[in-house]
Amino acid sequence: MEKTFEIGDRKFVLDQAKAEQAFAAKKIINGLKTEAFNLLPLKYVWAYDLYRAMKANHWEPEDIQMQKDIEQWQGNELSDVERWIIRMGIGYFSAAEGIVGDNVIHVVRELVTAPELKLVLGRHAHEENIHADSLLYMISSLGINPHECEAMFEQIPTIKRKNEFVTRQSHALRRDIDLTDPKNKQLLAKNMFVFGQCMEGTQFYGLFGMVLSLWRQNKFPGIGQMFRYTLRDESNHIALFRNLLKDLINENPEIWTPEFREELVDTMIEAVALEKEFISDCLPVGAVGLSAAEFCQYIDFIADRRLEGVGLRQLNPGIQNPLPWLSETMDLKKEANFFEQRVTEYQKSSALAAVNDDDL
Ligand code: MN
Ligand code: FE
Repeated sequence: MEKTFEIGDRKFVLDQAKAEQAFAAKKIINGLKTEAFNLLPLKYVWAYDLYRAMKANHWEPEDIQMQKDIEQWQGNELSDVERWIIRMGIGYFSAAEGIVGDNVIHVVRELVTAPELKLVLGRHAHEENIHADSLLYMISSLGINPHECEAMFEQIPTIKRKNEFVTRQSHALRRDIDLTDPKNKQLLAKNMFVFGQCMEGTQFYGLFGMVLSLWRQNKFPGIGQMFRYTLRDESNHIALFRNLLKDLINENPEIWTPEFREELVDTMIEAVALEKEFISDCLPVGAVGLSAAEFCQYIDFIADRRLEGVGLRQLNPGIQNPLPWLSETMDLKKEANFFEQRVTEYQKSSALAAVNDDDL
């Protein structure tokens, strides 16, 4: 028997029996392993929808003007703290984006089995490449010495500790790991929690907030704009890892023990402490419009949103967002038209390429 499936404006005719069999073989982990990228029938529809949403947000660093940033960097209007925040931002993210992409490719995308999950994770890794490229663009525009950025990742203790906190959750999973063992399933679940909710979801937000508050004061408009686009991508990465974790738990409920849940909450407590240390390093003294105490409260607020998102207990229930303007700044929906235009352009150019291929 044949049945028509619809995804958006597309229709697919699938054999009912074969489709049901393929559907049943799809799992977050321990599903059918195959090199063939059989996306249909989609089981994790959210993953495919997220892939499309991520693609529609596509941006390229070179689209952003850096002239004003260069003038400000070379001029003498900036305070030492403002320069330091930009250095910390570029220094930290230069390596952090790479670490996230590396974990996506070598751990999570390797271990999940359903093709639509591999599809969206491929896009995730690509976005980390775009972010890494945007940092190269900032480094070259401002004329910062790249070795200095590398050194920051190795020599600044608060950056080093944030780095070690995530990489230790990644290395243990890079071997032939038996994912029928509940202990190993928990290792993977913890990896998803650490990378999605603690790192991208919480430890990226101190600098995001600081750079965007400079942007709000018309300082570093180009860098600020790149961080806004990056942040919008990160919100999709956080959602991706949250959905992965929730479906992994749904399919393997034995791992979601009270002890394991508390272990994850403790991990978030550690992530928050590391981020607060880092914020104090970025803001050793008060600067115009930047208060370390407010950013620390913001991190507490964000961490609770992440915990809540995956069904874990909150650390500071009822805590208020001390920087409401920040959510407003991060809300790029108002600029949707700009992106619709870009997407149309990209679609046009790929349509053009297809026409040229036909000509051959
Ligand atoms: Mn990123
Ligand atoms: Fe990310």
